Amino acid sequence: MKKKLVNQVKQYFESAFATAPQHVFLSPGRINVIGEHVDYNDGFVLPAAINKYICFGISASGSSKCTLIAKDLDETYTFDLNDELKPTDVMWVNYILGVIHQLKDRSKNLKGVNIAFSSTIPMGSGLSSSAALECGIAYAFNHMFGLGLSKEDIALIGQKSEHTFVGVNCGIMDQFASVFGKKRSVIKLDCNTLEYEYHKADFKEYSLLLLNSNVKHTHLTSGYNVRRQEVEKGLAILKEAYPGVKTFRDCNEEQVKAQREKLGETIYNRCLFVVQEIQRVLDAVDALEASDFAKLGALMFATHDGLSKEYEVSCEEIDFLVDAVRNNEDVLGSRMMGGGFGGCSINLVRKGTEDALIAKVSREYKDKFGISLEPYKIKIAKGTTLYKD
Ligand code: ADP
Ligand code: MG
Repeated sequence: MKKKLVNQVKQYFESAFATAPQHVFLSPGRINVIGEHVDYNDGFVLPAAINKYICFGISASGSSKCTLIAKDLDETYTFDLNDELKPTDVMWVNYILGVIHQLKDRSKNLKGVNIAFSSTIPMGSGLSSSAALECGIAYAFNHMFGLGLSKEDIALIGQKSEHTFVGVNCGIMDQFASVFGKKRSVIKLDCNTLEYEYHKADFKEYSLLLLNSNVKHTHLTSGYNVRRQEVEKGLAILKEAYPGVKTFRDCNEEQVKAQREKLGETIYNRCLFVVQEIQRVLDAVDALEASDFAKLGALMFATHDGLSKEYEVSCEEIDFLVDAVRNNEDVLGSRMMGGGFGGCSINLVRKGTEDALIAKVSREYKDKFGISLEPYKIKIAKGTTLYKD
């Protein structure tokens, strides 16, 4: 699958620029086992890069001119590196310009490039195609122009691009996972300090299955930014009530519950979800280490319920997908994954039962919503990299 994508991109590049690309880079999408909406709330997350990629064919253009070809959208955008870079009306371009804008500030060594790219990461489905795009570009420029960026720099540049040029106030998880991904490992990331550790992702007789609702998360940008404002308000109230509390991590469930009235119903629910979710990630790491998959699965269901009822970032379709497997003895856990309002569910499923499950849930989902479900049996893969034949 990877090889096929690479060959396609090489072909696209050649037909557009009449020469083979000098470099090919792969930047992966990601899953998150647990720890949703806590990357910007002082929590821990447990993501991993997966074997779905954006593939970039890139060469120096020989001038300051840059040509970007988004093959999947059939769109081309050109600009001059010497121009002042600003957000444009074309959304996909902003992810890239937001990165190059920062790189220009860091180095005088950049040169014009020709880029053709294509992807196996579905867009807007919670698998972080956006982070793969940003980080792939930063990684490629770093490699080609000797910018001396660390992996952490690349992830932070990707995140900042999304903040400044795209207008999504995202946390660091997506970019971090795309860049730091490692085969057969999940990353426990402390989103406050960016300290991280790899844990073996061996689910033994279980496997991870994604079910794409094919509902695009179009409300995500507004929903996301509103949630950020709500938790910010909530944290301010908690800090005032408890001088020892600096971040959500210092706060326990009882303390949140004691401030229910002051917080008001909505913000109370948001804060309760956050402190519970931070704890769930720690419990999930213990469960993974102990190969206690029943426990891990139960935590995933609990996360889903919190996201759906307290944090209110799910949607009818995703709730349906989780409920459809809830009482299935071959499914230990299921939850909405990613920012929400659509996208995929992630499921911990007994190996060998995936196809029957996919057939059953697809049928039920189609009957209810008239939408075709897209299943992905994914593998955990390594992070953004230069592709070598
Ligand atoms: P997610 O990161 O969950 O996939 P986002 O809404 O954050 O969803 O990012 C999706 C956006 O990223 C797309 O709308 C598009 O602008 C850009 N993008 C991602 N993949 C591609 C691609 N293959 N070609 C062009 N643009 C892409
Ligand atoms: Mg994204």
